Amino acid sequence: MSRKYVIAGNWKMNKTPAEAAALIGEIKPLVADASCDVVVGVPFVDLPAALEAVKGSGIGVAAQNCHWEKSGAFTGEVSADMLKSMGVGYVILGHSERRTYFGDTDVTVQKRVRAALDAGLTVILCVGEYLEQREQGVTGEVVAMQTKIALGGVSAQEMARVIIAYEPVWAIGTGRTATAAQANEVCRLIRGTLAGLYDAKTAEDTVIQYGGSMNAGNAAELLAQPDVDGGLIGGASLKAPDFATIVKAAK
Ligand code: PEP
Repeated sequence: MSRKYVIAGNWKMNKTPAEAAALIGEIKPLVADASCDVVVGVPFVDLPAALEAVKGSGIGVAAQNCHWEKSGAFTGEVSADMLKSMGVGYVILGHSERRTYFGDTDVTVQKRVRAALDAGLTVILCVGEYLEQREQGVTGEVVAMQTKIALGGVSAQEMARVIIAYEPVWAIGTGRTATAAQANEVCRLIRGTLAGLYDAKTAEDTVIQYGGSMNAGNAAELLAQPDVDGGLIGGASLKAPDFATIVKAAK
């Protein structure tokens, strides 16, 4: 098993470029001795400032979306090649806010994943169920389907550049966290889905994060679960000391 914890911040639509540089400046010394990979997912306009600010640290920079075409008449969109050309390493795809508010579907997520991998980016692929789906007992089916469709056409070799973030929608930005057992159960299920799609080794090697109101207080318990290999952190990633506490818990 070769997987390493990955702690990624999803800043969503927060911070100007100057504020992004300042926050990374605060985070940098606090995570200098991290034993996990650390990533900050910033708005498109903050990418140049973030790439400059992370220099000299091991912190990676993620965009929060990319289009599936290389170029063309897609007003307001940004291609994976554009991100790669500026030095971005990661892209968050399929976040529930994109699915809920901006019409992303499993099929468009699949196309974005394909484009991102073709461009050489590492994908943080978000999957997760709505509260009604959990209450109806279909969490496993929903998450397995999202995973299978998004990864359609992705080879086992390419899975080395795919991180999966299990994010129950009911836990995102709500302060309501999945229990450690619930988080582990679904991350394990995703691993089982990967074993079916690929093979046991690919499943064991894939990093599967939990996301949904992870914070400085609950991170250690969540990250101690055997199938939880890191976190995708929203709100708490905007506070340097809290984000650093989560990073320290990932070992
Ligand atoms: C997220 O946006 O991916 C997320 C998990 O947000 P929060 O930590 O605020 O719930």
